[in-house]
Amino acid sequence: MHVRTNDTVLVIKGRDRGKQGKVQRVLPREGRVLVEGVNLVKRHTKARAGIRQAGIIQKEMPLRAANVQLICAKCTKPTRVGYKRLADHTGLRVCLQCKETIE
Ligand SMILES: [Zn+2]
Repeated sequence: MHVRTNDTVLVIKGRDRGKQGKVQRVLPREGRVLVEGVNLVKRHTKARAGIRQAGIIQKEMPLRAANVQLICAKCTKPTRVGYKRLADHTGLRVCLQCKETIE
């Protein structure tokens, strides 16, 4: 996956195109990410004694990871992500705009 938890991403496709948010959860098996404030759906909830009131709550739904682009913290541009292989076989993510590594 090119994005990780706490990355800031830009939505590039779909209803919320143009929105930015922080990745809250990555679901690698589904190829989806949950982004704060993006892909909100309204849920009608019933009251449950002592837990919550009845009403409409807004909730994020996971969206396809392919539909978001990482925003580089260094150059603040939406970017594609490259990988740099290190001698110990671990990889580092690299911003393809400014070539800086991404933590
Ligand atoms: Zn960059």
